[in-house]
Amino acid sequence: MKTESYIEIEDKLGAHNYKPLDVILSRGEGIWVWDVDGKKYMDCLSAYSAVNQGHCHPRIRDAMIEQSRRMTLTSRAFRNDQLALFYQEICQMTRSHKVLPMNSGAEAVETAVKCVRKWGYETKGVDRDRAEIIVCSNNFHGRTLAIIGFSTDDNARKNFGPFAPGFKTVPFGDARALREAITPNTVAFMVEPIQGEAGVVIPPDGYLKEVREICTQKNVVLILDEIQTGLGRTGKLLAEEHEGMEADLTLIGKALSGGFYPVSAVLSNEAVLGLLQPGQHGSTFGGNPLACAVAREALKVLIEEKMIENSAQMGEYFLKELKKIEHPAIKEVRGRGLMIAIELYPETKGGARAVCEKLMAMGILCKETHTYTIRFAPPLVITREDIDWAVDKIRAAFVD
Ligand SMILES: *Cc1c(COP(=O)(O)O)cnc(C)c1O
Repeated sequence: MKTESYIEIEDKLGAHNYKPLDVILSRGEGIWVWDVDGKKYMDCLSAYSAVNQGHCHPRIRDAMIEQSRRMTLTSRAFRNDQLALFYQEICQMTRSHKVLPMNSGAEAVETAVKCVRKWGYETKGVDRDRAEIIVCSNNFHGRTLAIIGFSTDDNARKNFGPFAPGFKTVPFGDARALREAITPNTVAFMVEPIQGEAGVVIPPDGYLKEVREICTQKNVVLILDEIQTGLGRTGKLLAEEHEGMEADLTLIGKALSGGFYPVSAVLSNEAVLGLLQPGQHGSTFGGNPLACAVAREALKVLIEEKMIENSAQMGEYFLKELKKIEHPAIKEVRGRGLMIAIELYPETKGGARAVCEKLMAMGILCKETHTYTIRFAPPLVITREDIDWAVDKIRAAFVD
């Protein structure tokens, strides 16, 4: 079937809740993907950082095949022989005390919201139904109703209300605003270490450390949404390590399965997840043996194949090379690890989308976030030669 036919069918039968680039991919390996006509592209999006380990990593694939021959789903009505090992390995890696496995990132966020409210009532002593959670403007935490209710993106919210109460917004990167927004009813502050969907927005140095101090001082649970920044993307296992601090709750997803399967998790101290009792939360697929086997291997691959170190080194190189590109449309080039963005001036004709389409024709796939930012987030297995190749194309895309 031809590209045009796939697009026609999708447009006719599918909801139009995405506006993808018109490329029909059918195969992937490492940082490379191929379309139905056999044309090869470098993937500079990594499925929003879900394929940090590279497409179809053979070790994760084998783990998935092997586990799927033995057992895929038990539900949590019974135990399975993968869950305990997943818990043990992830807790050791992240120095967490408790884990709750879910599937999508949004479910991990919802789980955290439920649990910190419960903690607020049962431990902090907040009056019933009074709990407040503080979030940041321009946040992205997923697409479920509770989550979009505290989004500040009008397009994500419009005509989907009414929304759940109990959320308050402060500017991202402003520790003082957080301090002033906290009341006796505040149970948690939830923040992305670097705002991904907002366009790779990096907070001022010391922000997370200060946020940590404020939360500790005011007895507020600090939730870091590391669904995009975590698992090597920024050059550390978790982005919190850049500031030498630790969240109370950390949310991970996306690359937790290396792109094979939806797996997410809430990582926690004893105090918050320790409050859940049987029947109060759950998921049919959460913690299933296939997900656990895949996640275990995806984590091992990340560490054993030194992908996190590579992310730090190659990220620094990529950023340095991109910063050398001079063009009047470029407002800023910024990034940490392999989470990089080029922001254009708002008057740029065609915006970031036009650059992405040009890059696609040249064999690089990336996606605009909002109208004027192009994100570069290739799989963490990228090499210096690959980056040199990509930078040549990106430079050429800015000519004229
Ligand atoms: C992608 C993402 C989510 C949502 O994950 P889904 O698996 O799409 O539900 C939440 N938070 C952040 C920071 C994300 O990047």
